[in-house]
Amino acid sequence: MASFSVRYDPVPASVKIDLELHRPYRTWFGFGRLRCEWCNHKWGAHGCPRRRSAVKLLAAHIKSDSLRDVLAALVGFSWGGAA
Ligand SMILES: [Zn+2]
Repeated sequence: MASFSVRYDPVPASVKIDLELHRPYRTWFGFGRLRCEWCNHKWGAHGCPRRRSAVKLLAAHIKSDSLRDVLAALVGFSWGGAA
């Protein structure tokens, strides 16, 4: 994972790897429905179940706003008060 370099980082690598691997793709037959590229699970608001738990774990590590920004960029959605 070249995008994650050596700077101090409180987020577990396994979580990041999950976030890297589990990405949505648009199905040809689903009329815009998304599926996970990695586990082929249906893609919900916060991704597949595996990614969702990774995001939850990651959120537990958020202690600062700057980290929150990093997370938002990494995960690809904003917190925005969503459940
Ligand atoms: Zn997945």
